[in-house]
Amino acid sequence: MALTGLQIQKLLPATNCKECGSNTCLAFAMKLAAKKAELAQCPYASEEAKRVLGAASEPPVRCIELGPERELKLGGEVVLYRHEKTFVHQTALALNLNDTDAPESIEGTLKTVSEYLLERVGQKLRLDMVAVTQKGPDAKAFVALAGQAQSRTKRPLVLRSPDAGALATAAAAVKGSRSVLCAPSPEAAAQLWRVARENGHALALTAPDLNQLVALAAEIKAQGFNDLFLQFTPFSLAEQFQTNSIARRAALKDGCKPLGYPTLRFVDTGNLLDDTIEATSEITKYGGICVLPHFDAAQVASLMTLRLNLYTDPQKPIQVEPKVYAIGEPKPDSPIFVTTNFSLTYFIVSGEIENCGLSSWLVVPECEGMSVLTAWAAGKFSGATIAKFIKEAGLEQQVSRRELVIPGYVAQISGELEENLPGWKVLVGPQEAGDLESFVKSRLQ
Ligand code: SF4
Repeated sequence: MALTGLQIQKLLPATNCKECGSNTCLAFAMKLAAKKAELAQCPYASEEAKRVLGAASEPPVRCIELGPERELKLGGEVVLYRHEKTFVHQTALALNLNDTDAPESIEGTLKTVSEYLLERVGQKLRLDMVAVTQKGPDAKAFVALAGQAQSRTKRPLVLRSPDAGALATAAAAVKGSRSVLCAPSPEAAAQLWRVARENGHALALTAPDLNQLVALAAEIKAQGFNDLFLQFTPFSLAEQFQTNSIARRAALKDGCKPLGYPTLRFVDTGNLLDDTIEATSEITKYGGICVLPHFDAAQVASLMTLRLNLYTDPQKPIQVEPKVYAIGEPKPDSPIFVTTNFSLTYFIVSGEIENCGLSSWLVVPECEGMSVLTAWAAGKFSGATIAKFIKEAGLEQQVSRRELVIPGYVAQISGELEENLPGWKVLVGPQEAGDLESFVKSRLQ
């Protein structure tokens, strides 16, 4: 929970020595509360102040980093609803492998996790993890499969077994991968957190109900191990939705630290549609890791698209790099179009130009990711800014054509653009990218 300036002041030495750069301890406390200063600026801060303020500055949902390079981040969330600020780390999607699966099925899953790639508005979307489940009686086969999955995919794993000993051996076999061990019971968790710590992994906890899970998480946190995931045990979709919501609300609004960890859920209803609904519920309601029982291309593409939409920062539109793009194989006299660097706009316009079958140049100036009309209203897409970008990008040396097509929505900038680009002619294109093909046929060919 965030502390107020007055609460922080009580933790400071009250000498007003000014060494922190503030005139008084109270002024410094106010800066700390507003996150405009750091406690380290006060050389006389007590251990108690460091402990209390350190805990207060932790995000309400702990951020846990997985993978050999700590590249997969989960948790770290600070709001209940995306419109309050943004969601930070998206739900990780994993595919499950059983040690009893046929070798060709295992091979297929490992290949899919390694190679699957979906591109959406310039973003490259991949599967994040592999789960390895022991179903057979042979612990060695489980451990070997864990090693194989990690070395093939280079992804962090979720390791699941009813046998704590097998989990400990597998944890050592993939040490350094920063994976997740799933404790099969609260009793096993009491031993496995040490195994997780020794091998650099996280631990997923489970318990028969939420109260017992809270008690278990608090107990392990008190022992000093904090890289935890929570595995709830709901009996229905409605309860899953409700439990995820209660846990997140308790962590964010009530400062309930034992619920301030990302979650882990294995989806496996035996029915593709029901699995998809459960996974959708996880993505929309705060899920940390969601493990799918097997790969289905339509399901994964839908879930990833949903996830991308939810986890896009509403304050930072997805953008493409501002530059002059070659669509097809344009020559110096090929047509030149202009649009903004809002990803969606760029991909729609470039796609329509491709559909025309006409190799072209597409000039995309820096517009802070805004769409055409928004960028124009904000002064980011004016005749002066486009002309400046064209000059700085060296387009005049690159092309022989001196004719630009601007979006129909900003027809009003054509005069200003011609003034700023002497010798150029500006054509006003259609308002909608879907009308580019007919525009090209009637005006450019
Ligand atoms: S350095 Fe510490 S003790 Fe001195 S004024 Fe700042 S907060 Fe107070």
